[in-house]
Amino acid sequence: MIKKVLIANRGEIALRIHRACKEMGISTVAIHSEADKDAMHVRLADESVCIGPASSTESYLNIPSIMAAAEITGADGIHPGYGFLSENAKFAEIVEAHDIAFIGPTAEHIRLMGDKIAAKDAMIRTGVPCVPGSDGGVANVEDAKRIAADIGFPVIVKASSGGGGRGMKVALTADDIETAFRTARTEAKAAFGDDAVYIEKYLQKPRHIEIQVIADTHGNVVHLGERDCSLQRRHQKVFEEAPSPALSEAERAEIGKRVCASIKKLGYRGVGTIEFLWENGEFYFIEMNTRLQVEHPVTEMITRIDLVREQIRIAAGEKLSFKQKDISFVGHAIECRINAEHPQTFVPSPGMIKDFHAPGGLGVRLDSAMYTGYKIPPYYDSLIGKLIVHGMSREECLLRLKRALDEMVVSGVETTLPLHQRLVQNEDVAKGDYDIHWLEHFLAQDT
Ligand code: ADP
Repeated sequence: MIKKVLIANRGEIALRIHRACKEMGISTVAIHSEADKDAMHVRLADESVCIGPASSTESYLNIPSIMAAAEITGADGIHPGYGFLSENAKFAEIVEAHDIAFIGPTAEHIRLMGDKIAAKDAMIRTGVPCVPGSDGGVANVEDAKRIAADIGFPVIVKASSGGGGRGMKVALTADDIETAFRTARTEAKAAFGDDAVYIEKYLQKPRHIEIQVIADTHGNVVHLGERDCSLQRRHQKVFEEAPSPALSEAERAEIGKRVCASIKKLGYRGVGTIEFLWENGEFYFIEMNTRLQVEHPVTEMITRIDLVREQIRIAAGEKLSFKQKDISFVGHAIECRINAEHPQTFVPSPGMIKDFHAPGGLGVRLDSAMYTGYKIPPYYDSLIGKLIVHGMSREECLLRLKRALDEMVVSGVETTLPLHQRLVQNEDVAKGDYDIHWLEHFLAQDT
């Protein structure tokens, strides 16, 4: 078994990984930038190493510094969390070349799924339905025009190396395709250093429904149901729930089976998320994330499985501790992403947290690295916490979420808590009646 894990991340996810390690009797090494010397993950870890200045490229993305920290501390496992180096195939390769377990999939699978054109191709080959679109990349404006006309407008031009909701441009009619194609390419080149783009049918009112899978190195693959992440702003998730209010038990079982068969054929190991758009009862694959997701706790709450613990066990070569027939879904869970941002303008609000009071009670979980007096640095993502609530029914979950939000206090900085307070009281949210555009429309009514 792995004895010492270096946590190659910061914030709430660094803490989340630390907690799983401690419960498994594994010691932890925190790495941190100069700006994060007072961070909670640094305080709680058994050891800590400063790996560079505030800028991410010089610290959390600095592979030589991270490897030096692993060597010095004698870590035999590295957990990359999400973001930063979690989907960097080169990093996974370097870690394993140093005889350290990379707590994630193989470099080969990270590379395959990081190229969205190749990922769609792999999914189609293994029997997973995809959004209709170009068969591979689109190289020039003439092809873009012809392919878009074949697919039928509206279409969306997407960056093959895209992520974080960037590098996507919608063309509503034939008049827009040239501009959409050119801007998507330019943006993709600037953001990802790769101008490969592809075209998909732009679905009008889909939900974002993703399937959590987990696979060991002994050929066992299990799905842990879905998460509905349709409430998005700028293609970024804000509020997630499991199960999806839109899916039946039969639909869940059917898509779960197809996804597991595909993952088994691909020989994937570790946790992974297969993301779909879902419209009129049909699933359309959009991408696969080869890492732990921000919203993984909602799945943990309804399945009672610790996903980080399972990740570590798989990296150590152990078998999954459950089979598909052992999985049952109990009740309902919702996660609210709490960002240090203005709740209407979404302008980041770094600074000192003056007062902090965490909500509590039955079914309430707060994954956060904040504390009273913590100074949120301006250099990183603005996520400061995730409030996750479980109830035996969706109705109970929403009532519990409302009271947990009422209990929670964060002062000194702006947060998105007021947005969540409004969402939880909204009639459409209460009915589960929303698609991927709902939140943008809701926010537009404010301005
Ligand atoms: P990223 O990797 O940048 O997150 P995704 O491919 O996962 O990009 O898409 C992110 C979001 O963009 C989806 O959840 C959805 O809201 C929207 N989107 C992506 N593809 C389409 C499409 N074909 N039709 C409509 N919306 C889409």
